[in-house]
Amino acid sequence: MIHNWKHAADFYERVDRLKLHGLHFQHISLCERRAWMYMHNINFAQWYGRVQVGTVKHQISHVRDHSVEGLFGLSPDRIDWKNCIVYENKGTGGAVEASNNQTAFYAVMLSIATGKDWRAVTHVLSTRRNREVLLDDEQMRNLWESSDRLEILAGMKKVPRARCIPLCKTCSLSGFCGHN
Ligand code: SF4
Repeated sequence: MIHNWKHAADFYERVDRLKLHGLHFQHISLCERRAWMYMHNINFAQWYGRVQVGTVKHQISHVRDHSVEGLFGLSPDRIDWKNCIVYENKGTGGAVEASNNQTAFYAVMLSIATGKDWRAVTHVLSTRRNREVLLDDEQMRNLWESSDRLEILAGMKKVPRARCIPLCKTCSLSGFCGHN
């Protein structure tokens, strides 16, 4: 399926040129301002307590798997090279579309790079369950449109406007946005 994808070459070129990786595709599904801040390396997470605690918990609960060593530019949590499956860990099963976008991105990039069909699986740490991410037409359209939006954001000099959304309550940028 991915090998017949009409956008494969353009997608790969765009990802390489803009230096995009999985978290860009997660952020753009959640909030354009968040994605813009991430693209421009503006990050308040270091001094935001919630994220600091979350980062430490993540580091303790999950030592990075050896299967992902040497994957320049891509940083999924685990790769089953034999069966062509890429895994991304998430703390909870929430924000399904955003986390699907991130995991699907890894599978698509690996498929394009290796010429094999890769599957994408999100592993939910709180339930220890796997959730397969289907690389169907809708998901592929989502990835392509996300890359379009990221291309536009990359060229924007000013931070985009952002209305208050439910995510703001837990976003590390809420102080900056005044949505806390
Ligand atoms: S606080 Fe809200 S508007 Fe601001 S970056 Fe976060 S999610 Fe987006």
